[in-house]
Amino acid sequence: MSSPHTTDLKNLTQAGLIDYVSGLGQPAFRGKQIMAWLYRPGITEFSQMTDLAKEFRKVLGENAYISQFSDPIIERAKDGCVKFGFQLSDGHIIESVLIPEPDRNTLCISSQVGCAMGCSFCLTGTMGFKRNLTVAEIVNQLCSVRDYLLAQHDESLIGPDRITNVVYMGMGEPLNNLENVLASLSIIMEQKGLDISSRKITVSTCGIVPKIREFGERSTVNLAISLHAVNDAVRSSLMPVNDRYPLEDLLEACRDFPMPKRKRIMFEYTLLRGINDSNDDARELAKRLRGIPCKINLLPYNQSSHLPFASPSQDRLLSFQKILLEAHYTVFIRNSRGTDISAACGQLATKKE
Ligand code: SF4
Repeated sequence: MSSPHTTDLKNLTQAGLIDYVSGLGQPAFRGKQIMAWLYRPGITEFSQMTDLAKEFRKVLGENAYISQFSDPIIERAKDGCVKFGFQLSDGHIIESVLIPEPDRNTLCISSQVGCAMGCSFCLTGTMGFKRNLTVAEIVNQLCSVRDYLLAQHDESLIGPDRITNVVYMGMGEPLNNLENVLASLSIIMEQKGLDISSRKITVSTCGIVPKIREFGERSTVNLAISLHAVNDAVRSSLMPVNDRYPLEDLLEACRDFPMPKRKRIMFEYTLLRGINDSNDDARELAKRLRGIPCKINLLPYNQSSHLPFASPSQDRLLSFQKILLEAHYTVFIRNSRGTDISAACGQLATKKE
């Protein structure tokens, strides 16, 4: 049982666990042993950690606990996407979305309750900012969805029976919760943790320039930038962050971003009818991104009755893409998944707050 005086061990990286056990007078390898147990399916009690001495398990039981999400609200979309609503200990609800494909399962996770950045096309932004998620609340989204996948019958699965890819594109701006996001990444990538390769993980930001630089120095996972406009006037009208960190500063931070283990930066561009979807916008985008190793994701806007934007026509979308392809960019059109359960990009906002 948790109490305000006990430590949730899922808030600790492997290095943190080693420090923690040394504070209890134990050698470092005990921290690694605990790490290996914490992220196995079905482990909820210290009594299950059978290679730890009974006396030490008792000490752990008095000083620490293992958190987990129970009974998520699960909604399944017609296209196979699954939205999970997790109630936190203070009553807030956060959401994660599983996007299955035949060869992969991508999990889109949240990093904050609500978001302070106020992007005008995003429902999460309309919630305002409530609080940062803890490390445990970030990694427990993966643990819970992993358990969900393991409990499914093979014939009901579209993709593999495990999470293969992780994107920090759910509720919140991950770089505004940088320390907890970095700690969660360490657990997700650790072999004894959730063992997902850095190549399969992407953190997405709306463009907080100094934190992009810091993130580049402290992490090896992929970076995605929510760009959505090619000039400052339009971008500032859509994304208040642009007033503080204008487009050229953002693109300069992208040019400087350390790339060794990463191949390319992903630019996300939501097309909003009549606002940023013209051929001139496409040509300007091609010009602005010149010299940055990148891929471009075009996202036709997911229409919502709560916001005053419209989706582009299919012709407009294809014409926009063609201009970028002719400029030799790798460009994907990401058709919306999970729209019938409000699980698509920009649609995550919990009603019950
Ligand atoms: S798009 Fe991302 S950064 Fe902008 S308000 Fe929504 S969650 Fe926040």
